[in-house]
Amino acid sequence: MALSPSQYARNLRFQLSLSGPVDVMAVAHTLSVPVYEEELDRFEGCLLWVGGNARILVRASIPYETRKNFTIAHEFGHFYMPHHKRNTFSCTAEDIARYCGDSVYENEANEFAAEFLLPRSELEKQLVSTPDIAVIREISAQYGTSLTSTAIRVVETTCEPVAVVLSEASKVRWVVRSRSFPFRVKTGVLHEWTYAIDYFSGKELPGDPQHVVATAWCDGVSRENLLIEESVAFGRLGMVMTLLRVPADDDVCGNRS
Ligand SMILES: [Zn+2]
Repeated sequence: MALSPSQYARNLRFQLSLSGPVDVMAVAHTLSVPVYEEELDRFEGCLLWVGGNARILVRASIPYETRKNFTIAHEFGHFYMPHHKRNTFSCTAEDIARYCGDSVYENEANEFAAEFLLPRSELEKQLVSTPDIAVIREISAQYGTSLTSTAIRVVETTCEPVAVVLSEASKVRWVVRSRSFPFRVKTGVLHEWTYAIDYFSGKELPGDPQHVVATAWCDGVSRENLLIEESVAFGRLGMVMTLLRVPADDDVCGNRS
């Protein structure tokens, strides 16, 4: 591969003179790759080649617009990267949602989509303060990217000690840490002292950041260490996304009592 998927994404943005948030349907029109919404049973999105012409199919019942955008941008990746070209791709929700999955092509298309929709250079300009869920929500709304994909991009870009964790059915599904986050986040069943576990027991999640004992989330930490936890539920998906950060001296937030 001559370039990385992110470099291909930047090339396409440059070729199309794009800056800031991207309208994926306008891009599809410019690329002459029509997008059809269909009731696909097993797939989230497909890139098909028919008689030398590409078309994208996207599952009509995807519940979030941001996720549709990401799926279409993912298919642009299969369309645009030369070593993917001219192949038909049928991409499952796992292929598109999974972070660091098994398929090289699917991971490359995900990396392409993430950079195409929200380039790192633009994100760096947005990250002027310590990232929290409010900042991630704002960027996600501005760029039409999902909360999880935005959170991952933020964590990968920031210098601050933060980590993002996705949980499903009371278990940690994946973790992404920033370079400066000092602890290893536990996998497996969520600890009873986390706030995230409350969602799976049918309780409301706090609306604000909360202090939590670091041992609830991390291995190899002393009992005195605290973290700040912000958890948000994705009711329709049955998942919780948590942003963990190491408190700064001037942080003010709640405590588990
Ligand atoms: Zn794919």
